[in-house]
Amino acid sequence: MLRRLLRRCLRASPWIYHLHCGGCNGCDIEFAACLAPRFDIERFGFLLVTSPRHADILVVTGPVSKQYAPMVKRVYEQVPKPKVVVAIGACACSGGIWHEEDPENYAIVGSVDQLIPVDIYVPGCPPKPEAIINGLIKAALQLAEAR
Ligand code: SF4
Repeated sequence: MLRRLLRRCLRASPWIYHLHCGGCNGCDIEFAACLAPRFDIERFGFLLVTSPRHADILVVTGPVSKQYAPMVKRVYEQVPKPKVVVAIGACACSGGIWHEEDPENYAIVGSVDQLIPVDIYVPGCPPKPEAIINGLIKAALQLAEAR
């Protein structure tokens, strides 16, 4: 059953573009761990790409800073359809400590879904690599259904 599900969601190799829009980098370090040999998401077919134009999955970390908000929308538009957006960490999901503690924060917009539609939420501060991989598998499954 699991093997069939994995085969279905990983029919094509999903390419990922990572967008960091603020925060403390904790989530980025955990995401980087997913790419490193211990967790090695490339063995599932995931590939990190350097252009949103080549990506299927947009991974977003950190709360959106006001300065970075136009860039988030622009990058989202550059990812071709069908696309899936994955918000990683409390900051991307809800604004985290930057926004929840201080909703009037002069520099922060808040969660990513205030600017672009988010399909998968991976909460945690920071989430563990296992949780991030779980979110990416869900994204790949959603992508396979959209194709
Ligand atoms: S969710 Fe936590 S670890 Fe991730 S960027 Fe925000 S403060 Fe840092």
